[in-house]
Amino acid sequence: MLTLKDPSLFKQQAYLNGLWCDADNGENIAVTNPATGVTLGFVPSMGAAETRRAITAANASFKAWRSLLAKERSAILRKWYELMLVNADDLAVIMTAEQGKSLTESRGEIVYAASFLEWFAEEGKRIYGETIPTPTHGRRIMVTKEPIGVCAAITPWNFPSAMITRKAGPALAAGCPMIVKPAAQTPFSALALAELAHRAGVPAGVFSVITGKASAIGGAMTASPIVRKLTFTGSTQIGQLLMRQSADTVKKLSLELGGNAPFIVFDDADLDAAVEGALASKFRNSGQTCVCANRLYVQDKVYDAFVAKLSAAVQKLKVGDGSVAGTTQGPLIDIHAVEKVEEHIADALDKGAKIVLGGKRHALGQTFFEPTILSGVTQSMKVAREETFGPLAPIFRFHTDEEVISMANDTEFGLASYFFSRDIGRIWNVAEQLEYGMVGINTGIISNEVAPFGGVKQSGLGREGSKYGMDDYLTVKYWCISGM
Ligand code: ADP
Repeated sequence: MLTLKDPSLFKQQAYLNGLWCDADNGENIAVTNPATGVTLGFVPSMGAAETRRAITAANASFKAWRSLLAKERSAILRKWYELMLVNADDLAVIMTAEQGKSLTESRGEIVYAASFLEWFAEEGKRIYGETIPTPTHGRRIMVTKEPIGVCAAITPWNFPSAMITRKAGPALAAGCPMIVKPAAQTPFSALALAELAHRAGVPAGVFSVITGKASAIGGAMTASPIVRKLTFTGSTQIGQLLMRQSADTVKKLSLELGGNAPFIVFDDADLDAAVEGALASKFRNSGQTCVCANRLYVQDKVYDAFVAKLSAAVQKLKVGDGSVAGTTQGPLIDIHAVEKVEEHIADALDKGAKIVLGGKRHALGQTFFEPTILSGVTQSMKVAREETFGPLAPIFRFHTDEEVISMANDTEFGLASYFFSRDIGRIWNVAEQLEYGMVGINTGIISNEVAPFGGVKQSGLGREGSKYGMDDYLTVKYWCISGM
């Protein structure tokens, strides 16, 4: 059904211990294209038994994998990276079909996803230890770093490839095997990555992809004492559940959870740059990213001008099937996503906000939604508290720096934040006071493989990408050498 240059990248089986497998019970789950509602194919409905087998296989592969030289693991990861780029067009077609984002965005994600394999292939060669001056005669103190062990990953549908490589890259580079459970909506991107890992020479058991029942697979992953680390990207609610489930086996956790990003435009900002930043941050992936601007705060003096400029820019966005050239806004992932956007709009209108643009389901049907701008939004509305995860830009008005910093920080989340200003004193002051793991200053795009991505407060634990991303897959061993 999908037109691929290499149809063998479209896998409808799970990848476990180096083999393509069906579920023990023979059952499958359908995967649909959100732009058309058409069934794209099926993946196995696996559960706890298959997950336990994958964990056993990962454990069996661990010793040999960690014993390779760092540069031998690096060469395999590098090959995997190259294969992703060679097959980027097919990977993008698969992603757009199951996720909905435009082909341009899918291609961008494939390059972004591959960059984590490249980066960690390099970084894996630099897992240095250290020596510490001893406080006692006749002793030497040394620190080495070791792979933490078998890792499990549970990934979301909004970045079907990048959220896997951002975890598997550092895990494999550090010497850890990994089992991935992709989101039910987007398993084909994950399975295509498994096929490329296989071709790159990743040994059996080192990288497995299991599809099926989330709670059963997650339950088996968290219950297993063999799994030493769980890495999760998704909702705060499921992150909290997995954290609780991991308590009994005291796993190390990386959690990339929800955000509620403030996007602040000060009156000294370059307004055109702020509009460009808002477009990129708010409407990318139709607003379905955890770093999307969720609340746009604009200072009194430039409020009307910003609303007018943003509105003109948003009118140029093109909603449609992501596989059609020129589309910038694909459908939302499912009807629940549409209902959430509608709920936030209704609540805001009820409390006095006004529609500047859009506001309803798109004439194309399915789960398409009109890019929407609301003005006159206040802190009492749902959009101020909850992540919308859709193409809705609510614009709040503020007067002073103190006021906006206080509003921006008034949330349990702390992932990304953004602001636009050209005053160096203000930039320093505001960046220091924002209670967020990431601050974009005069830009709406902050994610890349060399920088530490992650949040504070209930947005999560750990960092992904960068040299810090490697630490999440390592343990520190202290050697106290005496008797010399
Ligand atoms: P969203 O609401 O955006 O889909 P979720 O947190 O529900 O976010 O999903 C993120 C990932 O977590 C997906 O792979 C999903 O299948 C998985 N997931 C959902 N529920 C559970 C669960 N109870 N245990 C383990 N994983 C789960």
